[in-house]
Amino acid sequence: MKLVFLGPPGAGKGTAAQVLSKALDVKHISTGDMFRAAITNETPTGLKAKAFMDQGALVPDFIVIEMVEERLQADDCRNGYLLDGFPRTVDQAVALEKIAPPDFVVNLHVDDHFLIKRLTGRRVCPKCKGTFHITRLADEKTCPDCRGELIHREDDREETIAKRLAVYHNETSPLIDYYRQEGKLRTVDGEGTPDQVLELIDQALGLNA
Ligand code: AMP
Repeated sequence: MKLVFLGPPGAGKGTAAQVLSKALDVKHISTGDMFRAAITNETPTGLKAKAFMDQGALVPDFIVIEMVEERLQADDCRNGYLLDGFPRTVDQAVALEKIAPPDFVVNLHVDDHFLIKRLTGRRVCPKCKGTFHITRLADEKTCPDCRGELIHREDDREETIAKRLAVYHNETSPLIDYYRQEGKLRTVDGEGTPDQVLELIDQALGLNA
């Protein structure tokens, strides 16, 4: 199974992708996570990506496409993939068609005002990749799953969120029509709880039929 999760920042792509990739036994590939790891390890890709990410801008297509192409050739993608955060532009989608076209594209729909609330309160665990909202944390600094130290992503601060949403609407949302025309789009309401959203995704993909 080859799946793409499409949706604005904060739509819940990562949370749903983590669970579904295990259930389907396909590799969860988040380009955002790959860039954050590259920045931590100070690789050439990380050094190039950092300035764009800090500003809430997209990393240029040629850098992302090369990174994903290489990643999808690895052995652990033999069963397919679940791409989270790629493609984000029409040029990236066209490149993916040449590398390994997706079977389905799950479009998580969430309104902007809801996203702003989610993102400003989001805390992530770099160790286990868990994502939490401050309203559901007893301690804002500690991961309830692995006890790692939670962080507030630099690009989840209010100033950068508006920019990221504008980038999504201008550059990424055209992919909704692109994949609708390809007959691959499955749109799901992403405003419910993680369990509700997963149930809707299962239904949209016919997984619990
Ligand atoms: P994410 O964790 O998916 O929200 O990604 C964080 C940041 O990484 C984005 O705001 C972009 O700067 C960069 N990024 C991740 N995926 C892509 C992509 N497919 N194309 C361009 N930039 C990306």
